[in-house]
Amino acid sequence: YTQAKALVFSKPGEPADVLSLHSHSISPSLPSSSVLVRSLAAPINPADINTVQGTYGAKPPFTSLIGTPEPSATPGNEGVFEVLSSSSSDFTKGDWVIPAISQFGTWRTHAVAEASKFIKVEKDGLSPLQVATVSVNPCTAYRILRHYGPNAGVKAGLGMRPLEVGSGEWFIQNGANSGVGRAAIQFGKLWGLRSINVIRERETEEATAALKQELEGLGADVVVTESQFMSREWRDQLAEITRKGREQIGLGLNCVGGKSATAIARSLGEGATMVTYGGMAKQPVALPVGLLIFKDIRFLGFWLSKWNEKDVEGRKHMINDILSLIRARKFRDVPVDEVKWDWDTEESTLRDAVQGGLQGFRKGKGVFVF
Ligand code: NDP
Repeated sequence: YTQAKALVFSKPGEPADVLSLHSHSISPSLPSSSVLVRSLAAPINPADINTVQGTYGAKPPFTSLIGTPEPSATPGNEGVFEVLSSSSSDFTKGDWVIPAISQFGTWRTHAVAEASKFIKVEKDGLSPLQVATVSVNPCTAYRILRHYGPNAGVKAGLGMRPLEVGSGEWFIQNGANSGVGRAAIQFGKLWGLRSINVIRERETEEATAALKQELEGLGADVVVTESQFMSREWRDQLAEITRKGREQIGLGLNCVGGKSATAIARSLGEGATMVTYGGMAKQPVALPVGLLIFKDIRFLGFWLSKWNEKDVEGRKHMINDILSLIRARKFRDVPVDEVKWDWDTEESTLRDAVQGGLQGFRKGKGVFVF
C-alpha cells in the first residue's frame, strides 16, 4: 500500500477554516487503464483559493473516494506528477504527467486516476516547477494574445482576427506582475507586439524601480505604476507613447477590475478589444458609455477552462509550444515561493500557505514542492 495525504475541504469557506489534511492508503492493485502518480510540484493559484471559498465559476465534485468522513474535494488545478505505476500502455514508470482536466485536485502527495485524465510531458531539460506552472498562467496569456489581438476588429470590421505576428502593435495590461501578466509580456515580445504594463507601486521607490526593471528584462516596452496610470497626466503620456494616437492600442488585458479596468478601457483605440480574465481588486468593471458607442470598443471575458474543454488538441499543442520555449530559454520562470510538503509537514503550514495566496505584494506564487 502507498501512504498518501491530501488537502481536502467539505464545505466552502476561508481556506484556514475549511481545509484539512487527510491521510489515506492506496491499494497496489490498480484498476484497468489507470495510473498511480506521486506529486512533484503544485501551484497555489488565485482560482484554487476562490474554489475553496466557493466563489469560482465551477464547483469541484465532492466524493468519498479517499475515505474522508464527509464527502470532500481536493483543490488544485495544476501540477506535475511522476508516474509510479500504470495499467495503461500510454504511460510508464518515471514519466512526468500533468492533469488533462480542470479541477483535478493537485494538492496531494499521490493520486490514482484513469489514464485519460493525464497528459504526458517530455521532461528533458525542464524542472518540476516549470512544468507545474505551465498550464494555467502562460496558457491564459498565450490564448488571449493569439486570439484577441491586438487590434482584433479594427482591421477586420466586426469580426475577430488572429494575431499578426511581428506587427509591432500595442497592447496594454494591468496586473502586469501576475503570472499571466509576466507571460503576456514575454509572448508579446516573442511575437513582435509591444506592451504597456501597469503595476502597483511597491513600498519604496527602489523596490518599484527594481520591479519595473525586472519586467523590462522580460520584454516590457513600457512599465507604469497604477498611480501614474490613474493620474491626469496619463492621457498626455499615452499620446507620447502612441505618437499622438498614430499608433493605436488594440488590446487591453484586465486582471484587476475596478478603477484600473476603467483606465485600461480609456487607453484603448477605436475598435479595440478589452479582455477581462481576472478580478483581483474584487470590484466591478464600470465603463463610460462613450467607449461603447463612439469608440466601438468590445468588452469580453475569458475563461481558460472553457477553452480547454472546447479545444483539447489545441491545448496540447499550446502546452508543448510553451515548454519548447522554456527549454530553449526563451521564456522565463515566474518567481515562486516554495512551500515544502513532506510526510511530516503540519496541516497548519499547508493551510497558511493557501490562505496567504491571495495577498498582494508577494515575492512569488506559492507552489507546493514535494
Ligand atoms: P498571481 O498570483 O501570479 O499574481 C496576482 C496578481 O494580482 C499580482 O500581480 C498582484 O499584484 C495582483 N493583485 C493582488 N491583489 C490585488 C488587488 N487588490 N488589486 C490589484 N491587483 C492585485 O496571479 P495569476 O496570474 O495566477 O492570476 C491573476 C488573475 O488572473 C487572478 O484573478 C486569476 O483568477 C486570473 N486568472 C484567470 C484565468 C481565466 O481563465 N480567466 C486563468 C488564470 C488566471 P502585486 O504584485 O502588486 O501584489
